[in-house]
Amino acid sequence: MGIWTRLGLAAVGLAGLTAAGVRGVQAEDAPAAAYRTAGMTLQVQRDGIPYTVVIEMLLDSEVSEEAVQAALATVASRFPLTEAPQTASAHDPFILNSSRWPDARAAWAYNATGKPASLHGERDVIAAAAASWNAAGSNFTFTDAGGTGAGTTGCHGATDAVNTIGWGHQDGAVLAITCGWYSGNRSTEFDMEIDPDWDWTVGNGRIGVDLESVVLHEFGHALGLAHSDDHSAVMYSTYLTGTTRRALTADDIGGLAAMYGGGGVAGAAATPTSFALQSGANLLTWPGPESTPQQAFAGHPEVVAVYALEGGRWRQYVPGAPSYVNDLVTLKQGTPYWVLASGAVSIPIQG
Ligand SMILES: [Zn+2]
Repeated sequence: MGIWTRLGLAAVGLAGLTAAGVRGVQAEDAPAAAYRTAGMTLQVQRDGIPYTVVIEMLLDSEVSEEAVQAALATVASRFPLTEAPQTASAHDPFILNSSRWPDARAAWAYNATGKPASLHGERDVIAAAAASWNAAGSNFTFTDAGGTGAGTTGCHGATDAVNTIGWGHQDGAVLAITCGWYSGNRSTEFDMEIDPDWDWTVGNGRIGVDLESVVLHEFGHALGLAHSDDHSAVMYSTYLTGTTRRALTADDIGGLAAMYGGGGVAGAAATPTSFALQSGANLLTWPGPESTPQQAFAGHPEVVAVYALEGGRWRQYVPGAPSYVNDLVTLKQGTPYWVLASGAVSIPIQG
């Protein structure tokens, strides 16, 4: 699991379907269009505290790469930076950085200012998306902080410690942006800004861009999850218009359990002789017998780091680092691990 291939679906651009200034409106029999994601990581300082801000944009998949870069630059221009932006590949803005919410709780609040006048019931579907993650059997809980007058400041360069879901106009092809703030290994804020110009829909009538599906995915990032390469997963990086994706899959739930413990779904119980890592962050359930990470990954310099949540705290193994850094000492069968790799590699399973 872990990285991010684009759907091989023939997608049509929305540009030819634009009508009356409302983007994303399609005739009912129009071919499905896909939405994609792009992201970047910003380093900023606020009140003397350094933060990492991870930003994901949801865009029309037919947009040019130049337009994607321009949209990213627009967002970055809202942030006084301490370092140059790191533009992630188009599909992996949320490399897991082992950050999590302290106490495994995050409150979300909704600001309806600027929402599409014709949209109703949107708060209920946002709450439903949060409830889906809460029902997945982990120790994590999204709490509902109700309505807020706080803005989506986290997407505009400022932290205000309120995790706001709200509305704001974006660059042409951008449907929504989400902005996660991290200090050290703690998640500190998460804001989501949705462009009201798109054809957002709720419920089971006509489906335009399904708000619950999008918010469910973004809440997954808010938890700290990266994208999945499982096409059916909520955390897959593309999204088809006219469809819904409102139910978490085993892949999503396994990622959640890996981060916060509890319940979840173990990996397949097959006995393969090797497993594949892709470049970037790979979530895997350790398939082999108990082993040290040194033994398991010996001779594979592509492996950059291994992380696991043990006893409520993150432990790590970084090849070559001193022992006081490497507090992940045993890989246990059936336990989820995040493995960061610098390139694709196949790791034989010993024993
Ligand atoms: Zn995403």
